[in-house]
Amino acid sequence: MASIADQWLRDIVRILYQRRTLTRSDIVGVTGLNAASVSLALRHLLRNGTILKVGELQSNGGRRREVFTLNGEAAYFVGVDLEGLRLRFALSNCVGDIRYRWEEDLEFGQPLDIGKVVEGIRRVMRELDPIQRERVIAVGVSYPGLLDEEGRLTAFNLGWRGFPIRDELAAATDLPVFLEPDKHSCVLAERWLGRAQNSKSGLFLIIERGIGLGMFLEGKPIGGWHAMAGELGHCKIDPDAPDVCGCGARGCLEAIASSPNIVRQYVERAGLSGRAAAEVRVSDVFQRARQGDAAAQAVVERAGNALGLALSHAVNLLNPEIIVMGGDVLGAEDVLLPVVEASLERNALPNLTQDLTITMSGLGLDIRLKGAASLAFRKSLEDSSLLKKMCSPLVMRYGPVAARATR
Ligand SMILES: [Zn+2]
Repeated sequence: MASIADQWLRDIVRILYQRRTLTRSDIVGVTGLNAASVSLALRHLLRNGTILKVGELQSNGGRRREVFTLNGEAAYFVGVDLEGLRLRFALSNCVGDIRYRWEEDLEFGQPLDIGKVVEGIRRVMRELDPIQRERVIAVGVSYPGLLDEEGRLTAFNLGWRGFPIRDELAAATDLPVFLEPDKHSCVLAERWLGRAQNSKSGLFLIIERGIGLGMFLEGKPIGGWHAMAGELGHCKIDPDAPDVCGCGARGCLEAIASSPNIVRQYVERAGLSGRAAAEVRVSDVFQRARQGDAAAQAVVERAGNALGLALSHAVNLLNPEIIVMGGDVLGAEDVLLPVVEASLERNALPNLTQDLTITMSGLGLDIRLKGAASLAFRKSLEDSSLLKKMCSPLVMRYGPVAARATR
């Protein structure tokens, strides 16, 4: 048999991951591989159960064209989101769907015990039977803070300073571990699985306790010197504003538009105190704005204007094709998005906003988890031995691969 180049397998698996179902000629067209190489590689992948034939198209000439998809059970990946307040774990299949997830709250102010992370990874892997567990390829971790070249993480939120996370997790799980800053996990999840799939340059604005901007330009994620690019939350929107930011400065975007600060301003304006004040969540502020509560509307207006102004600087500098927003503002597209959009249009150069799409994420609250699992997938594709493992013959629990329908 002629030898099959890793690059053919890599290109075909990657494109089926992103597009889900394709015909042989689609694959030839999208990957740019020649038809003979694609046929050879498809035969190999079909025989091993890495891909499945899920149907046929009848074309004009009467020739039937087969439709292929990745077999979700060909490989599994573990995603870990070290958000700071919570630990989240997911087991994702080979097409990026979360098969099982687990999360737990962390005690505020206590350094994170790595044993909890290891146990979370083991816990999601226990959802698989032993044969499937053999198909777990890698772990992807989305982290806050700063990682050095030796894989040591410094993250204030986790109480870690130079903690050797990569080595500790790899030793405890016996799996390759890949790590990525949380801003990258979000924007790359949008690029691989979400609304930015067909875009070359996009921004992802996440609004939670903090505000961060993930960026990819001309297809590449932007990290900067210390991989800390995208601190939009600390851009000054109004240096004379009374709002003091967590960084110590006044008038940062985060001090006006992060979730806790939206709640804080609402509580102040509405004159709430005690239990009524303590119980307000950011989703309540959006809901009250929707119902016509003037204090809530004023706070949402201020936050939306600040977000649009900050984004206008990013748009003028980077000229993105799409901006996706996510985090705690999911579900507020009706009250928040129009304010952000109007402010962005007022403040950015018109030429840069006329074709710009601004939208809410469709990937939900688990975006970082999906991003972390897709990181593990992407890095495994690049590594020849892990790619080989993903594409190795699949032993199914209930008989031969061909007899099973796709999930
Ligand atoms: Zn700040």
